[in-house]
Amino acid sequence: MIKKRKSVEEYKAGILAGNRAVLAQAITLVESNLSADSDLASALVQEILPYTGNSIRIGITGVPGVGKSTFIEAFGRILLDQGKKVAVLAVDPSSQKTGGSILGDKTRMEKLAADRRAFIRPSPSGTTLGGVTSKTRESMLICEAAGFDVILVETVGVGQSETAVKGMVDFFLLLMLAGAGDELQGIKKGIMEMADGILINKADGDTIPAAKRAKNHYQNALHLFPPSESGWYPSVTIGSSLTGDGLFDCWKKISEYQNHMVERGLWNENRAKQRLNWLDESIQSILGKAFLEHSEIQKRLPEGKEAVKNGTLNPIAFAKELTGLFFKE
Ligand code: GDP
Repeated sequence: MIKKRKSVEEYKAGILAGNRAVLAQAITLVESNLSADSDLASALVQEILPYTGNSIRIGITGVPGVGKSTFIEAFGRILLDQGKKVAVLAVDPSSQKTGGSILGDKTRMEKLAADRRAFIRPSPSGTTLGGVTSKTRESMLICEAAGFDVILVETVGVGQSETAVKGMVDFFLLLMLAGAGDELQGIKKGIMEMADGILINKADGDTIPAAKRAKNHYQNALHLFPPSESGWYPSVTIGSSLTGDGLFDCWKKISEYQNHMVERGLWNENRAKQRLNWLDESIQSILGKAFLEHSEIQKRLPEGKEAVKNGTLNPIAFAKELTGLFFKE
């Protein structure tokens, strides 16, 4: 709920000036579930669109405990040392409940959060994954307009949110541990296939030899997947978010990837595809919502659903009946 809304121009001016308070308010606006806020947010995103697109968007995933927060803190500081401004967003519809993600545990990102060149935003409270990801996309654009050079989007590597994040970032980084088997880590093959890079985290102390073995293992495993259309082979690096070792190499790989994609014209092509997918998702979501709010459909739906469930009503026939009601007149 927004206590006092600004005008689109006021939000825009504040964002472009890099005003952090306005930036935070604009993201709150984007995250609001009120339809008046949603209209204002859409108008704002349209206004700032010319100032977006200049960052590298990196998705970061891995099972709870793999070290995502610790990594983001350490990696973020490396980026700051490179003169980058860093924004961190989270996509995790469940984190609001568990408090287990990103900023449920603020202390781990304390230093990054305290730096004026960094901006950290926890997961929006949305009920559906679709809602959360759409808000994260808009927040990402707002952060870009505010001058952030790198956007880190964190997600917990156990659900469908990976696909959603993959669909909004340039580079998808999977954090893994040495020693634990793939199944133990709850990482599905599909998630590995999505990765543009893997970082074997916690490669410090006694774990370094195992991390090196794991690196070979994953490198071989990744070569078994069909090569991606871009011709990029996912990079595997080892590192420690605790000591910072290897994290700069990870950044170098991401820069290499960017060059690889830009040279082939694929960087912008990928983003163009993502924007079109976002359009499709938005149409479906708006239509879906309007459909379920339609009074005649609301009347007819419960009974019909029951009949479909019992196998006495043909789902396609019923869907046609409902859409007929929706498009009547
Ligand atoms: P998340 O749940 O993926 O965000 O994981 P956290 O960042 O909260 O880290 C889980 C635990 O692993 C914490 O106790 C961290 O201190 C520890 N940890 C994270 N990264 C490393 C690392 O590189 N090396 C070691 N030894 N411990 C780490």
